[in-house]
Amino acid sequence: MKLKTWKELEEGGVVRNTPTSPQYKTGDWRIKTPLFSESDCTHCLICFLYCPDSAIKVKLGKVIGIDLDYCKGCGICANVCPKGAISMKEEEI
Ligand code: SF4
Ligand code: SF4
Repeated sequence: MKLKTWKELEEGGVVRNTPTSPQYKTGDWRIKTPLFSESDCTHCLICFLYCPDSAIKVKLGKVIGIDLDYCKGCGICANVCPKGAISMKEEEI
């Protein structure tokens, strides 16, 4: 039996249709909310790079806020911020 080369293999792991992730508002999972202090922020964008949910909103290279529809409240942004410009607050239930 002749083995296929990688160019002859079926494509795998390809998402052909529009992704569904925007439909799932993962912010519902949150028990802590990040509070962003614009006056302390130097716009280094480290939080943007680390946020697993792409919930740090950036416009023209500057952080303009946090998208609470998708932020899960993991606190990574607050942990990596070198300026302490993000703090986590318990959600009121
Ligand atoms: S990591 Fe902190 S200082 Fe840097 S952009 Fe984010 S909030 Fe601003
Ligand atoms: S708390 Fe987590 S999910 Fe929310 S903005 Fe920060 S890093 Fe992203």
